Amino acid sequence: MSSSATKKIIGIDLGTSNSCVALLEGTEPVVIHNQEGGRTTPSMVSWSGEDDIIVGAPSKRQMVTNPTRTVFGIKRLIGRKFSSPEVQELASSLPYSVVSAKNGDAWVRIDNETHSPQEISAHILSKMRRVAEEYLGDAIDEAIITVPAYFDEVQRQATKDAGTIAGLTVRAIINEPTAAALAHGAHHEHDQRLAVFDFGGGTFDISILAIESGVFEVLSTSGDSQLGGDDFDRVIIDFLADEFQTRNEFDLRTDAVALQRLKEAAERAKIELSSTMTTDVNLPFIAAGSTGPIHLQRQLSRRELESACRHLLDQLGSPCEKALGAAHCRPEDVDQVILVGGMTRMPAVQEKALDIFGKPPSKGVNPDEIVAMGAAIHSGIMGGELQEIILLDVTPLSLGVRVISGKMSVLIPANTTIPARESKIFATIEDNQTFVAIEVYQGEAEMAAQNRRLGRFILGDLPRAPRGQVRVEVSFTLDADGILEVEAVEHSTGREASVTIEAASGLSQDEILRLAGKTRGY
Ligand code: ADP
Ligand code: MG
Repeated sequence: MSSSATKKIIGIDLGTSNSCVALLEGTEPVVIHNQEGGRTTPSMVSWSGEDDIIVGAPSKRQMVTNPTRTVFGIKRLIGRKFSSPEVQELASSLPYSVVSAKNGDAWVRIDNETHSPQEISAHILSKMRRVAEEYLGDAIDEAIITVPAYFDEVQRQATKDAGTIAGLTVRAIINEPTAAALAHGAHHEHDQRLAVFDFGGGTFDISILAIESGVFEVLSTSGDSQLGGDDFDRVIIDFLADEFQTRNEFDLRTDAVALQRLKEAAERAKIELSSTMTTDVNLPFIAAGSTGPIHLQRQLSRRELESACRHLLDQLGSPCEKALGAAHCRPEDVDQVILVGGMTRMPAVQEKALDIFGKPPSKGVNPDEIVAMGAAIHSGIMGGELQEIILLDVTPLSLGVRVISGKMSVLIPANTTIPARESKIFATIEDNQTFVAIEVYQGEAEMAAQNRRLGRFILGDLPRAPRGQVRVEVSFTLDADGILEVEAVEHSTGREASVTIEAASGLSQDEILRLAGKTRGY
């Protein structure tokens, strides 16, 4: 088909567990079914046989028999260092192998080849792109991709690179809660405060937004990166496996195939119990005993699920309190609570949200689709189909420089509205010091080394003087796209130096181009 004047920009929710693609038809966002008929696609990629790559539901289905070559949850690795505590903790619990790349990034090893998270994410994005192309009957090369509000610059850039590898020009990376608020139709209403309560497969994210005169502002974000639907599945697995072990003296968790079947059954039971009070878990021939095959058959009730998962449900409160505190809000100042993510279909989770915010959460838009729909709406704003809405976001993490003690001196604190500009004055620490090295970090740890290092530059030719007498003013300017400009000026001489920090995702431009040739055709 010929390329029409109004090229479509697709909106992609690249989720930890599931991804979703939507586009704007007229002024309405439409979620597109994948080839398997699903409105969301498991964010899973597997390698089978000779270099054959399978994405989505078919990948999830063959996971039982191909556990070491099936990658899920790649979003938890993207833009992260192998040595980071998050990756270390995760790597030991994953059935596939996570390794350190030459540059220290966390990569995945399948057989004898290593793959970057950007490349693996690109397979998922490529699939989403194909889904949209088949629906439209036209090529698509532009997308808006959503990321968690707390993603740092490196994670955002890595996501963008994944888009490039998938052959997409990424027109914008927007925050998931902002997208959800857009799809919720919040811009049509009066000024208000929103809480976006996003509970997915692997993480819980809570954001407080303000909408005033059509301007969206993310006031604060918090969450728990170790709390998700998978934890509920694990509780059910242990519950069933413990009971089975007591009766049959066999631990199902020691058998990979049995464990995988149990895992699927646990998730299915959890999902069913969102709409029914009891469900049957039925796993015939789950183990072989001395007297023949053993079956696992049991009825599970919603009450059993809720009481076994009470400790997980109770963990939802404290991030909400933190986010409210950072936004200087009380629960009663929040006008609406928007539910996002598959886990918010669980009645006990909805009750928890009601408990925390003192009002029933809204159930207007499908929680699995709301983020992709918001991304499609944003594409309409960028493409001019929808009237201008201004999005203001905040920095999720503090930005600062390393000082002599090794601590980070913060210039732009977390949750500052961007664009932002801040300066601080620093003094020399040695007599006749001729240069200062400005090292820029992002993160919340007191010690700079524990945060993400974004870049470094030197201001030289300082005037000779006793220590403490030469003063250098460092300024940070963060623009609306999250690009940071750092300047340093020595006022007596007017000497200055500056650097624009555009986070590198860990892949060179050449690597991105090389990989771009490898992710077509699902
Ligand atoms: P992510 O944003 O991490 O990709 P999703 O929003 O797709 O995640 O949520 C996936 C999680 O939601 C999974 O743990 C899944 O089991 C759970 N889930 C999906 N539907 C339901 C349901 N009806 N009831 C309870 N949990 C559900
Ligand atoms: Mg999600």
